[in-house]
Amino acid sequence: MRAGSEGLEGFLERAKALHQGTPLIDGHNDLPWQYRLKSQRAISKIDIAERQEEVGLHTDIPRLREGGVGGQFWSVYVNTELEGADAVQATMEQIDVVYNMLRAYPKDLGLALTADGVEEAFRSGKVASLIGMEGGHSIGGSIGALRMFYRLGARYMTLTHNKNIPWADSCTDAPAAHGLTDFGREVVREMNRLGMMADLSHVSAETMHDALDATESPVIFSHSSARAVASHPRNVPDDVLTRMPGNGGVVMVTFVSAFVSDRVFDYEKALEVERQRLMLEDMGGDGKAVEAGLARWKEENPRPQATLADVADHIDHIRDVAGIDHIGIGGDFDGTESLPKGLEDVSKYHLLTAELIRREYQDDEIKKILGENVLRVMRGVESASKGIERGPSEALLEKGDR
Ligand SMILES: [Zn+2]
Repeated sequence: MRAGSEGLEGFLERAKALHQGTPLIDGHNDLPWQYRLKSQRAISKIDIAERQEEVGLHTDIPRLREGGVGGQFWSVYVNTELEGADAVQATMEQIDVVYNMLRAYPKDLGLALTADGVEEAFRSGKVASLIGMEGGHSIGGSIGALRMFYRLGARYMTLTHNKNIPWADSCTDAPAAHGLTDFGREVVREMNRLGMMADLSHVSAETMHDALDATESPVIFSHSSARAVASHPRNVPDDVLTRMPGNGGVVMVTFVSAFVSDRVFDYEKALEVERQRLMLEDMGGDGKAVEAGLARWKEENPRPQATLADVADHIDHIRDVAGIDHIGIGGDFDGTESLPKGLEDVSKYHLLTAELIRREYQDDEIKKILGENVLRVMRGVESASKGIERGPSEALLEKGDR
């Protein structure tokens, strides 16, 4: 069993100094979704100026400060069951949650719409707050809605969430479109024109390649790790990592236990097999036997724990295959229940930085990983957008695509 945060004390001072000089920009945090789940979106009911461990949150302002977070993409995820206008409305409501957070905590959170905006917010002592959409279902099949979301401040859109959408395949669904449809390519090109980053986390490998073929701008993976290190389909395969230098994009390494450790992923698969077996056995029953059986199984099979060192292994691998210019951080705090030992909440980022120092990463390399790489991608997307002279896309999602 390898260490979580043991033995890192000697590197912490240098780690904290690095966070003070360069904004750590995390690619994905689901706090807005937690407001929807826990307080019907009422900011007044969960005061993140105070520590909120007891309500089960990974994120609040004291812990963001402790972890040296300089910038955060707040995810405005909505349920993938939603389609059309319902998805658009729910996404607008989640963007409203972000604006209400900004209004409630003006000294700590500052809206950032550009790379310059991130640096400005960071210099004024605020956590630069960016908006990321998670899943193409959010635009309800409408490129007009996509354009309006850009105007509302969304600066990336993950092309899918866990399910396929009519124009793009997800990595956790059965192949249907085998990548992007023509409409999907049009969405990516319109995002390029607008200056919104295409996020390839959650999409299938075929969709990753199609998007890389279609895009005129660098892409991001807002919260994904490396598939060669851990086999979960949410991770990025090597044949995509090798395309990163050509594209200029960045893979923001995620912390989700089952994505970073095959021991955890195998455990979760075995648990699911057992659940299915118990449910078959209990067919027509009240479910109590399933619960009892699962409790017994869990007692016999203790859950393995991923560690901070596992996460650093993904960073090592992406450096070796794609290069130091293509790594970022995207924890997925408040979007997952299982996090590695040493990275339990947003107060722990500097421990990962300390681990990188222990692994002999140089200061300039660490600064790239913390935030400089994603700022470079944002600037690349912004300048590509200015150079695109075609008018707004008039493409419609064909009935046949649905
Ligand atoms: Zn996600």
